[in-house]
Amino acid sequence: MLIHFQRKCDKNLKQSKIDEIAEIYKFSKDIVEKIDRIYGERTERLLIALKKPNSKYFIRVNTLKSDSEEVIRNLMQKGIEVYRHDVIEEAIFLPTKGPFELPKTEMKITADKYASESVIQGSNLYAPGVINCHGLRKNQRVTIVDEFGEAVGVGIAQMSENDVLALRRGMAVEVTDSVYRIPTLRESREFELGYIYPQSLPAMITSRILDPRPGEDIIDMCAAPGGKTSHLAQLMENNGQIVAVDKNKTKIHKLLNTLIRLGVKNTQVICHDARYIDIDFPTLKANKVLVDPPCSSLGVRPKLFDYTSTEEINSLAEYQKQILKTASKIVKLGGIVVYSTCTLTVEENEEVIKYAIENCNLELIEERKFFYGSPGIQRTFNKATLAQRFEPDVHEDCQGYFIAKMERKR
Ligand code: SAH
Repeated sequence: MLIHFQRKCDKNLKQSKIDEIAEIYKFSKDIVEKIDRIYGERTERLLIALKKPNSKYFIRVNTLKSDSEEVIRNLMQKGIEVYRHDVIEEAIFLPTKGPFELPKTEMKITADKYASESVIQGSNLYAPGVINCHGLRKNQRVTIVDEFGEAVGVGIAQMSENDVLALRRGMAVEVTDSVYRIPTLRESREFELGYIYPQSLPAMITSRILDPRPGEDIIDMCAAPGGKTSHLAQLMENNGQIVAVDKNKTKIHKLLNTLIRLGVKNTQVICHDARYIDIDFPTLKANKVLVDPPCSSLGVRPKLFDYTSTEEINSLAEYQKQILKTASKIVKLGGIVVYSTCTLTVEENEEVIKYAIENCNLELIEERKFFYGSPGIQRTFNKATLAQRFEPDVHEDCQGYFIAKMERKR
């Protein structure tokens, strides 16, 4: 089905090279093949970049409660190195430090992928993320390794093996050394008071591209945990109306917590499958709709390994198309739909937009003021270059990302 974007040119890698890269960098062959079809000789460089964290850790300042100047002043007083983005005034960032060599220890414990990807940036290890801690004693100095045995951090055990297995909650290891270091702000006063929200730069750019205006009706179809919803609310200065939809009940609670913590007051939350909101809420219509659906998250860094298959990517793409189709039905004539993902596959990005253009009365339009990425992949369809891609080997301060802006013309 997707054969038509295969580029048969000598710049693509040979199968043996694809196999070798998949093995060395711990990605599925399916992923390496997909990246190769897009980036050819850049494939290896891009995968190496994906394995590192972004060079800058971005945070959004919540202008409903504070401003960048105040937050920067407060963080600097705590000795944190922090800078302002030069165009997006609510965006500030902390430089990522590292890589550092880890001290040697005698004891090793294994953490799952998600926990390892946090520990490698300096987060503590919590009990649910522990896979194996055979013989662990409280107060012991331990090296935390991922499922492939790669060391990600070193720390002091806060629990014994028995505690970890019996309780399955709480801090298992307080991390003292990690390969990369980013100050943790989730326990800061600024976070608690709702002055800040950690969010990647492309995620902030997405809400800026939707460009919500104070009096408008906005629908955020996949809203939890509320990063973009709360950004939209701050851009609207709590005026107008946002309907935030998510189908996952647990995540809806996280969304509500975010909205309360950040002082958002113009948002109604609906726990529902966004694919059917046109049928189940027939009066729901919006000037602007955001579609930020589940995706393969290939762009999220640092990525220690990823074995997603073609079948999984194809099924995500089908799901994304269904949500986007519904978006096209609830947006008013002349209204805007913005589609974003934190992945790099053509199947979940340009191909989804192509489908929307051909089947949903949507037209891809320019992103103008906020175009910081690379153009979309043209060979999928002519106008694809109007969309933007963030590519970790080029945009090293960002995660991999895709943003498309569309208008309902008919
Ligand atoms: N926009 C969010 C992140 C969204 S992640 C932010 O910026 O914070 C994708 C979300 O889509 C998840 O919370 C998931 O629960 C939700 N989701 C998945 N399928 C859905 C569906 N059919 N309808 C609505 N939400 C869905």
